Amino acid sequence: VSVPPGPSCIFCRIVAGTADASFVYEDDDLVAFMDINPVTRGHLLVVPRAHLPGLADVPPQVGGRMFVVGRELAAALRAGPMTTQGINLFLADGAAAMQSVFHAHLHVIPRFRGDGFRFVRDHWSGSPDRTELEADAAAVRAALGGAEA
Ligand code: 5GP
Ligand code: ZN
Repeated sequence: VSVPPGPSCIFCRIVAGTADASFVYEDDDLVAFMDINPVTRGHLLVVPRAHLPGLADVPPQVGGRMFVVGRELAAALRAGPMTTQGINLFLADGAAAMQSVFHAHLHVIPRFRGDGFRFVRDHWSGSPDRTELEADAAAVRAALGGAEA
């Protein structure tokens, strides 16, 4: 699923100006534009100019800026004409997480009561007890190692 930077990546084409998009924000590191197939009206994407395929490829400073810009856009959607009642920030990292464009991006999705957008879960992995939660927490802490921000 890995796509090189350049013409084979739709978001690289948008950043380069060789594919159309309706922009709402641009700075040195990021652009934001309307999603072409919005989940709800006003659905935006915050996209690094650099071709960074996955979350792990996004440098902390750029990732932090993605969140800052996403937050500003959320406020604009709430203040704007679309009567936004709520916002979901969503980032899909990996095909299993529903990433379809392998150039990292943060979704800013305006929400309206009854808009029909839902996360559906077919089965539930159970109700872990505290022992299981502690074991999983220990495993994550070990994997985190010295990587804390
Ligand atoms: P993902 O599932 O990878 O998180 O989401 C990719 C998003 O990119 C989808 O919401 C899809 O509608 C959007 N998208 C795909 N191609 C284009 C395009 O050419 N232009 C725009 N504006 N959005 C796109
Ligand atoms: Zn790209």
